[in-house]
Amino acid sequence: MNIILFGPPGAGKGTQAKYLVKKLKGYQVSTGDILREEIKKDTDIGKKIINNMNEGKFVSDEIVNSLLKNYVFDPNKKGKLIFDGYPRSLRQAKNLDLLLNDSNQKIDHIFFLNVNKETIVKRIKKRKVLEKRSDDNIDTILKRFNTYIETTKPVLDHYSKNSNFHEIDGTLEIDEITRKIEAFLNV
Ligand code: AMP
Repeated sequence: MNIILFGPPGAGKGTQAKYLVKKLKGYQVSTGDILREEIKKDTDIGKKIINNMNEGKFVSDEIVNSLLKNYVFDPNKKGKLIFDGYPRSLRQAKNLDLLLNDSNQKIDHIFFLNVNKETIVKRIKKRKVLEKRSDDNIDTILKRFNTYIETTKPVLDHYSKNSNFHEIDGTLEIDEITRKIEAFLNV
């Protein structure tokens, strides 16, 4: 089963993705983690993206799309992909459609974890203490949320007509969200 977890930063996509990875024996494809790894390894890409990431701006679609390709075409991961933080723009959504089509795959479920700004700010402040992420400060959080709002609508419009699109109240407790997701997955 290929699954997309969609929603603002701090919506709990990563938490649910990690749970689903265990439950479904899948592979988490977190573009945020993939990009942070490039920075950590100080690669050419890492050097290019560090400023954008620290400022809460998007990394260019070209870079993200090129990194993603390896995951979608990996035969071991085929049909077991759990996308967390991708796609984030209409261009990325269309790119994903193409990659999946070219590799004879499809998206089985899209979960939209909908959360308001106040909850996000509270959660990310907490995460900053726990995970020490350099982009988890209040200015950056707000910038990331605004970037998300600006680019979200076309992505939601792209998916929301599909019968496999499910909106879930992301302000619920983690376990409740998990139960709702599992009910749609029949697991
Ligand atoms: P995340 O861990 O998903 O919250 O992502 C952290 C940061 O990585 C974002 O604020 C962006 O700068 C960058 N990023 C992650 N995924 C994407 C994506 N799909 N497109 C563009 N930038 C991304």
